[in-house]
Amino acid sequence: MRDEQLSEQFYTEDKLHEECGVFGVYSSKTDRNVAPLVYYGLFSLQHRGQESAGIAVAHDGSIECRKGMGLVGEVFDPATLSQLSGPLAIGHVRYSTAGSSTIENAQPFVSRFKLGSIAVAHNGNLTNATVVRELLEDAGVGFVSSSDSEVIINLIAKNYKKGLEKALTDTIQFIKGSYALVVMTESCLVGARDPHGIRPLCLGKIDEGWVLASESCAIDAVGGEFVRDIDPGEIVVIDQNGVLSFRFGERTRKAVCAFEYIYFARPDSTIDSVDVYQARIRAGEILGREAVVPADIVIGVPDSGVPAAIGYGRATGTPFGFGIVKSKYVGRTFIAPSQDERERAVSVKLNVLKSEVAGKRVVIIDDSIVRGTTSRRLVMLLRQAGAKEVHFRVCSPPVRFPCYFGIDTPHRKDLIGNANSVEEICKAIGADSLAFISTGGLLEALNGENGYCLGCFTGEYPAPTPGEA
Ligand code: SF4
Repeated sequence: MRDEQLSEQFYTEDKLHEECGVFGVYSSKTDRNVAPLVYYGLFSLQHRGQESAGIAVAHDGSIECRKGMGLVGEVFDPATLSQLSGPLAIGHVRYSTAGSSTIENAQPFVSRFKLGSIAVAHNGNLTNATVVRELLEDAGVGFVSSSDSEVIINLIAKNYKKGLEKALTDTIQFIKGSYALVVMTESCLVGARDPHGIRPLCLGKIDEGWVLASESCAIDAVGGEFVRDIDPGEIVVIDQNGVLSFRFGERTRKAVCAFEYIYFARPDSTIDSVDVYQARIRAGEILGREAVVPADIVIGVPDSGVPAAIGYGRATGTPFGFGIVKSKYVGRTFIAPSQDERERAVSVKLNVLKSEVAGKRVVIIDDSIVRGTTSRRLVMLLRQAGAKEVHFRVCSPPVRFPCYFGIDTPHRKDLIGNANSVEEICKAIGADSLAFISTGGLLEALNGENGYCLGCFTGEYPAPTPGEA
């Protein structure tokens, strides 16, 4: 029952969902215990996945792993954490799609075989996982989970007799889709990013060691120093000799997930040299330029809509205010079984500051509109609070297509942007006006120098989708 309730909650929330965060630490001091650092790193990546958490530690030629369902703080109490000790460790937080919320899919995955042990933590989604899985099963490899990450670890294990580097490059050339990987053997830490760099991964420095993390905020959390992003198509091997970098495959177009900047990543992270907070401010400024409307106040839907509202206010001269309060405590365990209750649940999570909006023409900015249920409820709450006019502005283009690269999207028919015009969406959510940032405006906000994946807005994907892979 509990799994059903959790899935229901996740499945119905009116946002796209990140699927994972990865973290790894290597210390050249063999008596150092880095498990607590991984614990702190995972805490700061908790926004990337709240379903399960795990840490694997290498020590004295073996790998120990603890993982469980729940938040990092629920899975790891002091007693559990104290069972893990060693100078080399990786960790993972996971968000799961409906139906796969099981401990078997929690990561890291650990494989022990006659040449040694490896552990893998993966963020992303393989588009040819089914084919690779069938090939491995035909070769006699058994699986315990439905996770793509187990496909990766079994491929590495199968190739391991060729040596780690060759096993990694062979594996990586075989898999398709998106991946930010941290892999650990008994003596080295490895990071790899897919050839398009769809999911983020960065490198940091700590005293006598190195850190790999999905986002730079996790390097800050352990007192490390950000060094650089891992390049698309790059593998780094970190051991007592330092950081060895090599590339696999031919150079391809960089295509970082645009939604990382719009919504998923923490505002205090920098991804591929773009400051996430500043990108959100710029998106608001550009929205102001593209779709200004006379108003008395601009407010943002917490959290990621707030910097965009600040930017809109700066660009248009509209006073910025905190018009919406978000409950910090409504999260994973909030249950809303029926459509009616789900819509009402928005008011438990987000409430309007009546004194800020009553009698005013309000511009409200959100990062995205996915199903439209939250937007409709917010417009209604603003009107009930006495807003004279409600103008909705959105810092991403309409979400019209599914994501195949590690983000959980509702069925296409449930995406309000799929079959409806902007005017129809405006009517459906009950706003006085509605405007989305243009695709060009979004690219400008992201500083345009990187290539970006815009697949869920345009239907054009940087890599083959399942069936094409
Ligand atoms: S399709 Fe959308 S959510 Fe998926 S990787 Fe591309 S931009 Fe990100």
